[in-house]
Amino acid sequence: MKKYKNQVEENEAHRIARNESERTAGTRSLAGVLEARDQVGRPTRGADVAEVERGSIADELGIAPGAKLIQINDRPLRDAIQLKMADASERISLTVIQPDGQPRIFDIEKDAFEPLGLNVDAELFDGVTRCTNKCPFCFVDQLPKRAKGPNARNLRRTLYVRDDDYRLSFLHGHYITLTNLKEEDYARIIEEKLSPLCVSVQATDPATRIIMLGKATVGDIMERLQYLIANGIQINAQIVLCPGINDGAQLDRSVSDLMTLWPGVESVAVVPVGLTKFMPSERGMKTVRPDEARHILQQLKPHQKRACKSSGVSFMLRTRCICWPAKRCHAPRFTTAIRNTPTESA
Ligand code: SF4
Repeated sequence: MKKYKNQVEENEAHRIARNESERTAGTRSLAGVLEARDQVGRPTRGADVAEVERGSIADELGIAPGAKLIQINDRPLRDAIQLKMADASERISLTVIQPDGQPRIFDIEKDAFEPLGLNVDAELFDGVTRCTNKCPFCFVDQLPKRAKGPNARNLRRTLYVRDDDYRLSFLHGHYITLTNLKEEDYARIIEEKLSPLCVSVQATDPATRIIMLGKATVGDIMERLQYLIANGIQINAQIVLCPGINDGAQLDRSVSDLMTLWPGVESVAVVPVGLTKFMPSERGMKTVRPDEARHILQQLKPHQKRACKSSGVSFMLRTRCICWPAKRCHAPRFTTAIRNTPTESA
């Protein structure tokens, strides 16, 4: 018990916040702070503090619920990843606007991985980065149209958001396409080691990928993956299988290409496309029939064997699209074949 107390005392002495800086209104105006933009020019509104843990550093500094976190280390606060990084760091500078409207800048010295004790109201403070693709099989297009009126019964709004945000990929395993990343985004991913990321590859052949993503400027996915992997980022890849577009020889090519990137590409999930009755018929999308599904499983077997032989892992993750209600699905039951990999499509 005594030892525990001593440890606590030592930690207290070491971790206490150094000072509350005098640099408040003098060097930066409140308006200037609120107009802060991130490194790619997007405005940031900061994060509202929902809760402060009792006895935490934030509590000792007098940061109160209702305060707004504006910057960390003089960078506009965009997302919860920065807060996690701050928790892991030994020294940080935190710009806060207290509930009374007073801006404060705290220079904090603490133990690494000691949390600040701040719980915030969201994860992406500058909004979610939207998808710029037009996949013919997009799941959002397959949702019922939202009805209007006070008695309208709708699915929840967030289902209709087409996100393509690398931060959600890192935080929650959302699949991203790497078609909307700016240089600054790549730089941040690499600098902060935001790994692993889940990537919807769909096809490694550029022309086929253009059809799958409905966008002419999708770039060379192999080059982009190689760049990320060379910089220490691990990838879990996904192929949404659409009969007549990226199956057959295209599937063989995609899987073979991705296997050349192992272990940087840790796994590949092959997911048969899911279609609902709301899918616009003029797009001509087809589901994977049970006999086709059996054929695809046979087609993937040699790849899996090759992966097992050369690298000792199954590599391929064959799974069923979550859009298929389990009771109605007559396709052969695909099985998961590798651990620690996502099992749901975007
Ligand atoms: S990437 Fe996802 S959200 Fe974007 S269009 Fe394709 S399926 Fe829809």
